[in-house]
Amino acid sequence: MLKNNKSYSQPGSIRRQGRRGFGRDEIIMTTVLIVVIGLGLFVAFKQFFSSESDYKPMDVIYKCLNERCGEEYLAADLTDEERRSLTKGIPEEDNEPYLFCAKCGQRDAVRKDRCLKCEEYFVPQFLVDDTERPDDIECTECGTKQREEHNRRRRELHGD
Ligand SMILES: [Zn+2]
Ligand SMILES: [Zn+2]
Repeated sequence: MLKNNKSYSQPGSIRRQGRRGFGRDEIIMTTVLIVVIGLGLFVAFKQFFSSESDYKPMDVIYKCLNERCGEEYLAADLTDEERRSLTKGIPEEDNEPYLFCAKCGQRDAVRKDRCLKCEEYFVPQFLVDDTERPDDIECTECGTKQREEHNRRRRELHGD
C-alpha cells in the first residue's frame, strides 16, 4: 500500500500514462483516491454526528424519548434547577424509569446505559418500546447481553 502510493505520487509517470488515455494504474490510483477520500469523509461524518465519542466512562447521560424533543444531555451540564426538575413531583415509590425531561418537561427522559463490552452509551430497547424490563438488557450497539457479560467477567475474575 505505502510502496504503491509512493510510485503513484510521481507526477511524471501519471503524465506519461495520461497521453495513452486512461491507463490501468491511473484507474487504480483514482479508485484508491476515491476510497481514501470516502473513508475520510465517513470518519469525519461519524465523529461529527456521534456525540457518544465525547463522553467519558463515568458520565451520566439523559436522553429524551419524546420525538418532538429528542434532546440528549449530560447530567453535569444541567443547572441545579434543571437537575431537580428531572425527578420533581415523582414519588419515591414510583419505579417508572421515565423522568421529566430537563429540556421539554415531558416525562419521557431516560438515563442511558453504558455497554460493558463496547462501552457505547445506549437506550435499552424496552425503554424505547415502553415495555416490561427484560431479565437481561441487550446493548443496542453491539448486541451484548449486559447481565451475561457481567457474570462472565465476574467468573473470569474469580477464575471459576
Ligand atoms: Zn425532552
Ligand atoms: Zn455494546
